Amino acid sequence: MIENDFQDTPTAEIGPRKQVDQLTGPELQEIVREAGIVGMGGAAFPSHVKISSGLGKVDTLIINGCECEPYITSDYRMLLERPYEILDGIDILLRIFGLEHAYLAIESNKHPAVEGITDILSEGCKSRVMVRELRTRYPQGAEKQLIQTITGRQVPPGKLPADVGCAVFNVDTTAAIFRAVYQGMPLIRRIVTVTGSAVRRPKNLRVRIGTPIRDLFENAGGFSSLPKKIIMGGPMMGVAQYDLSVPVIKGTNALIAMSEKECRIEETKSCIRCGKCISVCPMHLMPLYLNLFADRNRFDQLEAYNLSDCIECGACTYVCPSRQPLVHNFRTAKRRLAEEKKRQQRSGA
Ligand code: SF4
Ligand code: SF4
Repeated sequence: MIENDFQDTPTAEIGPRKQVDQLTGPELQEIVREAGIVGMGGAAFPSHVKISSGLGKVDTLIINGCECEPYITSDYRMLLERPYEILDGIDILLRIFGLEHAYLAIESNKHPAVEGITDILSEGCKSRVMVRELRTRYPQGAEKQLIQTITGRQVPPGKLPADVGCAVFNVDTTAAIFRAVYQGMPLIRRIVTVTGSAVRRPKNLRVRIGTPIRDLFENAGGFSSLPKKIIMGGPMMGVAQYDLSVPVIKGTNALIAMSEKECRIEETKSCIRCGKCISVCPMHLMPLYLNLFADRNRFDQLEAYNLSDCIECGACTYVCPSRQPLVHNFRTAKRRLAEEKKRQQRSGA
């Protein structure tokens, strides 16, 4: 049990680090690990693991400022308000990977951020960063889509970005790396978008990891009407919440409280084989079949139809006229598939 004295005094170990220029790649990597930095775009994958698995393979570094889900603006605020933290974080990643240049990808609906960063770069201090303003479309910010858009390389099924020579880091993660290296600050806070039609004063808040989500809604003026649904994350990929005492975690980029009017909950009907889910899937999967196999626990077929490649973008669920809860079914099917594999391993099958 840690008792809060509400003094907010950092420990003696936290403070500006001297002679950062002399730190080696492995030392920088260790700082990232010690600071507990993870992918802050939502995935929360440990950054030091991404770095270590990419060393010697990665020739292209991409910084992801494409916050493609509707409602969320936390990365956008970072780009506007703390561009130097992001750019210095990029320099650290370039040093770790031993690369000369990085791409910074930003969607065209965040043009002021593109302008702001370009202005800084034109001052000549950060010429190692190339800004790419990309078309606004969903899911532009998904790792594999971004790699294809920027480099033309396709990550094969079951493979990782490092297998095609790429590493992708979110802008907030990159800024967290800067703070860890230069200020000695571990990852203890992040920006969260608090929004939705049931929120009185939608805003972005910089909050400590572990803050109950109730406090964030209260800070945003509370609810203007009783929320029908509360989502942690974006409306496409987020997870519904049933308890306001749950804490903000490192991957919490948004909290959305939807009113009755905004949140349609429709009855699920039988699949009519319209194929709309196939036509929108960015991973070229066949969601209707995956759904069928998930329903019947056909683990062999789920593997054969590359369930693991599903990035849980929710595009199939969004377009389905029968309101099939496709992405929800895929998430649970992935868990069941992993359990089944463990069971097989244990039984030696
Ligand atoms: S959620 Fe649906 S559309 Fe998105 S990758 Fe998975 S199967 Fe494809
Ligand atoms: S979009 Fe829905 S109804 Fe149409 S094929 Fe896919 S799962 Fe079936």
